[in-house]
Amino acid sequence: MARHAVAQRDDRSDEVPKRHVVDDGAVGTNAASASLHRAHVARSFGADLRSRRDKLVSISRPDHRDRSDSARGKTCPMTNRTWPTDWNERRAGRNCEMCATSTVSWFPWGTRYYEGDHADAYLMHQPVQPGMTVVMFRTRHVADPVDLSPEEVVGFWSDIRVITNAIEDVFRPCQMNYALFGNAIPHLHAHLIPRYPDDPAPGRPLPDASFEAARELSAPELSEQLQLLGDALAGRSLDRN
Ligand SMILES: [Zn+2]
Repeated sequence: MARHAVAQRDDRSDEVPKRHVVDDGAVGTNAASASLHRAHVARSFGADLRSRRDKLVSISRPDHRDRSDSARGKTCPMTNRTWPTDWNERRAGRNCEMCATSTVSWFPWGTRYYEGDHADAYLMHQPVQPGMTVVMFRTRHVADPVDLSPEEVVGFWSDIRVITNAIEDVFRPCQMNYALFGNAIPHLHAHLIPRYPDDPAPGRPLPDASFEAARELSAPELSEQLQLLGDALAGRSLDRN
């Protein structure tokens, strides 16, 4: 393309100073060469990666992350499969519990206190740490954050930022943990887990024992925390206005 463009310039040499054409042509040729080189490297590198990946897959198992229709429902060749056989269908959104409850404000495990453009926040009724929150991506079914569009990435994390600010205002943790698993329900959601200076595992994830020992909030405690979070969110929106 660049060479073609240079030839066109030469054809119109009466309209363009000669030196400009030569300089521009030289730059254009170099640029075209560099572009071709980069494309070649990218193709080679991509081919190399694909080759290495295919080799690994052939050794181990089919690519279960393949999102194409033809890949869904593949049978895993391993003899002791532990994941559900319909896992790929679930990842694709079939019978998704979170999609089916997108307008629900209360669950036995949590109460909604924030509705964002992309995500909603639920305060856990039996939090491993005070203020523990589940944030659900709500505009469509998505299994992983890597499946989000660039705009959705911004929207999802902007909502998480607003929610985190409110949690920090109310509960004053010394650290926040952001956990995205999707191992039980493969619909994008994040667990926001505040950490406190006296928690049992500084510098590490909380142990299973902490989850097992989690106490259910009393009705007054839940009501008060929801109120405080609501106030914090209202204060933040007022600040921004
Ligand atoms: Zn879903």
